[in-house]
Amino acid sequence: MKMKKITNYSKFSIKTNQISFSMNDVLIIGTVALDTIETPFGRVEKALGGSATYASFAASLFSKPALISVIGNDFPKEYVDLIKKRNIGINGLKITGKTFRWDGFYEYDMNEAKTRKTELNSLEHFKAEVPENYKDIKHVFLANIDPEQQLGVLRQVKKPKFVVLDTMNFWINNKKKYVIDAIKKADVLLLNDGEARQLFNTVNLVNASNQALRLGPKAVIIKKGEHGALLFTKNKHFNAPGYPLENIKDPTGCGDSFGGAFIGYLAKTRDLSESNFRKAVVYGSVVASHNAEDFGLNRLKRLTMADIEKRYKEFQEMREF
Ligand code: AMP
Repeated sequence: MKMKKITNYSKFSIKTNQISFSMNDVLIIGTVALDTIETPFGRVEKALGGSATYASFAASLFSKPALISVIGNDFPKEYVDLIKKRNIGINGLKITGKTFRWDGFYEYDMNEAKTRKTELNSLEHFKAEVPENYKDIKHVFLANIDPEQQLGVLRQVKKPKFVVLDTMNFWINNKKKYVIDAIKKADVLLLNDGEARQLFNTVNLVNASNQALRLGPKAVIIKKGEHGALLFTKNKHFNAPGYPLENIKDPTGCGDSFGGAFIGYLAKTRDLSESNFRKAVVYGSVVASHNAEDFGLNRLKRLTMADIEKRYKEFQEMREF
């Protein structure tokens, strides 16, 4: 059998990255992808995407994420440079074979992505390895990827204080048992409404959240696309409104950027109270709504803290009556 050559990105990482990586405060495992996306407003091919990419770009607005993932030899250098420019730790990024690819489209209901093709490629034989320097990170985001890999990362992190888990229909269909195992180990479960109904076999989202809470998480967040997000804890319920976006081009990565901003804000503020979860949900919604304004990562690339605070205020005003 021909052995595949696997390289760890740290071999190529630049000095500044090596100096700063001990300070990384959010560990994110997920996909780094080349996406083909079609929406009623246009089409892009081989765009930089993937759950870990969106999540770490969003988290980097608040904290210093490090990512664990795999790319192929076909992955453009300019995309690696973009990731490095955000000061995202890439010592856990492996290179082997061909990059994971996702091909999807949206019709006029932009809340639902339809998958044309998923090519796992190098993800198929990927074994997530957490570099020594990342093993003490306390905030862990298990973004959307094979749940066996999510569990593998959790086993390697020494004492995670706060674990957020995301998943999607692809893994619920193919590896439900592992998805449930991962939920049992998470502090917060993130799901969109369709996935919550599918996973817990109910049309009722309150029922789905209660079933999820019984598995162990302290909180469940159900993302409802343009209609906002619901936060359920044992005795409380909060809902963040959707932002009335007039200019929406591509919602790909909104769920991941919601999750990245959510955990990034909590890592920055070091406050895991329910009231701070509510603020984190609003920051997640703010970043996700910006993300939909342009294709791929084009909007997150330019997003500033000033943009975020401005929209956060608008969210507060929307709820005054
Ligand atoms: P979101 O729109 O937030 O649900 O996520 C979009 C991103 O998820 C895209 O950039 C895809 O590359 C990535 N993606 C698509 N399918 C999968 C999958 N099965 N596992 C992990 N990531 C995926």
